Amino acid sequence: MTQGRKSYCIICGKEKDGIEIREDNVSRAIRTINGYVRGKRLNNRVVVCKECYPKYNKYRKRYISRQRLYLILGVAVLVVSMLLSPSIGSLLFSVMIIILLYLLSLINWLPALSVSRGSISRRKAEPVSLGEKRKQ
Ligand SMILES: [Zn+2]
Repeated sequence: MTQGRKSYCIICGKEKDGIEIREDNVSRAIRTINGYVRGKRLNNRVVVCKECYPKYNKYRKRYISRQRLYLILGVAVLVVSMLLSPSIGSLLFSVMIIILLYLLSLINWLPALSVSRGSISRRKAEPVSLGEKRKQ
């Protein structure tokens, strides 16, 4: 679509057109790191192609549920360590665990799409005005 910019699928890595991902802090960071490694990819669009869409959904769900699990674990560590020995040391320890868990959750990282899932599957079924109102 845009001249000079190619689009790559985030799942299969092939040069394909698809639904563009939503840029977030993580994708920006990864893009920057990626840019150092292979400069030419820096300005390319990252998409999910049609063939990979079911796979993407599965991976994305797994990423979300893992992240939730890690968050619960982190809070549990914080609560338990503060109950056992309420000190700055154990607070710092808990924060470190939470950061570590967050980094672990990034192993399964997958960005959100630039369009909501509902608008893909029922693009024509729903009136436009409803979708506009619920915009985040
Ligand atoms: Zn693909």
